[in-house]
Amino acid sequence: MPEAPKISSTNHQESCLDDKNQQVLQFIEDVTSNAKEVQRRVLNEILSRNAGVEYLQRHGFNGQIDYETFKSTFPVVTYDDLKPDVDRIANGDTSPILCSQPISECLTSSGTSGGERKLMPTIEEELGRRSLLYSLLMPVMNQFVLDLDKGKGMYFLFVKSEAKTPGGLLARPVLTSYYKSSHFRDRPYDPYASYTSPNEAILCSDSYQSMYSQMLCGLCQKDEVLRVGAVFASGFIRAIRFLQNHWPLLCNDIRTGTLNPEIIDPSVREAVVKILKPNPQLAEVLEIECRKESWKGIIPRIWPNTKYIDVIVTGTMSQYIDTLNFYGNNLPLVCTMYASSECYFGVNLNPLCMPSEVVYTIIPTMAYFEFLPVTSEYEPVPLNPNKHHKLVDLVDVQLGQDYELVITTYAGLYRYHVGDILRVAGFKNKAPQFTFICRKNVALSIDSDKTDEVELHNAVTKAANSHLLQFDASLIEYTSYADTSTIPGHYVLYWEIGFNSAKSIPESVFEDCCLTVEESLNSVYRQGRVSDNSIGPLEIKVVKNGTFDKVMDFAISNGASINQYKAPRCVKYAPIVEILNSGAVSNYFSPKCPKWSPGHKQWCTN
Ligand code: AMP
Repeated sequence: MPEAPKISSTNHQESCLDDKNQQVLQFIEDVTSNAKEVQRRVLNEILSRNAGVEYLQRHGFNGQIDYETFKSTFPVVTYDDLKPDVDRIANGDTSPILCSQPISECLTSSGTSGGERKLMPTIEEELGRRSLLYSLLMPVMNQFVLDLDKGKGMYFLFVKSEAKTPGGLLARPVLTSYYKSSHFRDRPYDPYASYTSPNEAILCSDSYQSMYSQMLCGLCQKDEVLRVGAVFASGFIRAIRFLQNHWPLLCNDIRTGTLNPEIIDPSVREAVVKILKPNPQLAEVLEIECRKESWKGIIPRIWPNTKYIDVIVTGTMSQYIDTLNFYGNNLPLVCTMYASSECYFGVNLNPLCMPSEVVYTIIPTMAYFEFLPVTSEYEPVPLNPNKHHKLVDLVDVQLGQDYELVITTYAGLYRYHVGDILRVAGFKNKAPQFTFICRKNVALSIDSDKTDEVELHNAVTKAANSHLLQFDASLIEYTSYADTSTIPGHYVLYWEIGFNSAKSIPESVFEDCCLTVEESLNSVYRQGRVSDNSIGPLEIKVVKNGTFDKVMDFAISNGASINQYKAPRCVKYAPIVEILNSGAVSNYFSPKCPKWSPGHKQWCTN
């Protein structure tokens, strides 16, 4: 049975590097060729080691769980089904509820339940699995782009704020957990994991200090940089915007060799001053580039040896492709992996392909994967806990068919419905390769926020009812748009308003409406606004009466049925956005940030 490659860490001569790469590629060959057997083994391991946990016993398993019984009887669940168990864990119950191993922390997913981030209890050994997936990326890349070991990667990586659950477990995003772990901090020397950002800068929780020092170090080492990136496209674009806003200060530091006094974290200062040396020539070169009116191609202009931009541009992040092509002068955009807080899923084995052609190969050792067929393109099967859903095994999915991903993990999720819809695009040996189609029920997204139509509707209704009625006005129709032409991007709501009297509505009332909508959105959205600065203020554009009729006329002229027509609650199609914008008579922005604090509303944070 294929095992994860045991990567030797000390010897960094070239032949050793080649061996290491070969081992990794062989591992991928082995696990994909034996996907069926590997999946059986993974499920057996998960079920046998967790046979005594409360959750499995509750579902009728008394210490003995065989594959066939699991396959034929076990229910598919969503987060809300598990929430009572997760709450017990978060509140300090250490008995084996979901998993026989001790829960090490709770990962806070960007998916939400009841407006709060989902909490995913995890175990220490999962960090090893995440590291394994990361270790596959560069050997794969090395097959397509040579000499990546001869320079550095400029990656903008960040940690986010942490909270403690009432029971004392850390609650933080999966990447924060990973960057803070010894797997990342104490990683052995690896020419492929040589970054311009010092660990101290990545681990600094103050986002300004972290971004400033990472950018400064990236500029100081600019000629060594062979690849640039961030996790998501939105994060990388924010870094470029940061440079646009701060280059005079950054160049001043480089000219004089003195660090901006706003960087006060002592460990960050210490790490940065090791890299920062007075270099007036470099400062001048940078200033000449940054002063130019157009920032087209700024990435290769400043970092001339860059071979590709490593960011996720699949799923909702595809909205950033044009902006990245502008800054990158069409440098290849590389999406390397597909992962979540619950589990890391797979890698892209052909990383230089176009973003529209990216397919992810699921790595069968990561978890036990099953697939729920999507019957019609936009109607995923509603989950019914009393009904047994026909799930398809990893190796049995059909080419061209869409599926919802269902996972069983070592950390204690059993037939958990992830919420992603994937299409089978091919196979690597016996393991399927998937195109990421979408996340179920996401209407709006700028960064890691995911707002669904119901949530948006409730927020809009609350704002309109609280502020418009007193002016004898009401909301006749609305829709929304994720505007990524601004950096950071922001939500735009188009409102058509009916007036029953001649009372005019002051500007401040619409601003209050913007804020009420923001206050009503989930905590991931509010964190993006308040703490990460990854989402700009929400905008309401009031459109003249009849604008939504024009949208309907357009849809009908394009084949929509007049009887079944409903105004879309979210628009993406450029001609419709154009109709809405041309009907706009005024616009208003949220005057301040909504309230947000780390952790869940009901927890005290520290
Ligand atoms: P989180 O649980 O907050 O880590 O978010 C995980 C989700 O992000 C996944 O379930 C996907 O919906 C999305 N995601 C992660 N990686 C990718 C990718 N490579 N392409 C598209 N969407 C992704």
